[in-house]
Amino acid sequence: MGTCELCNKSGDGLSLRQADHKEYGRKWVCGDCWTILYDKNSMIPGTTGGGGAFSCPGGCRGCKV
Ligand SMILES: [Zn+2]
Repeated sequence: MGTCELCNKSGDGLSLRQADHKEYGRKWVCGDCWTILYDKNSMIPGTTGGGGAFSCPGGCRGCKV
């Protein structure tokens, strides 16, 4: 349980993810905001997400060599 630090969404079913934002620093954000940050390439690559999906230093999608 927690509150998204970007959109202030909260609730029992909310699962927060940690995102290292390039401007705002480390934030706990909801899945929706995390996706938005990812799409905008607003996170510092390599420190977020887990699972090792981001192998490209530029954080580009589909670059999973
Ligand atoms: Zn949010």
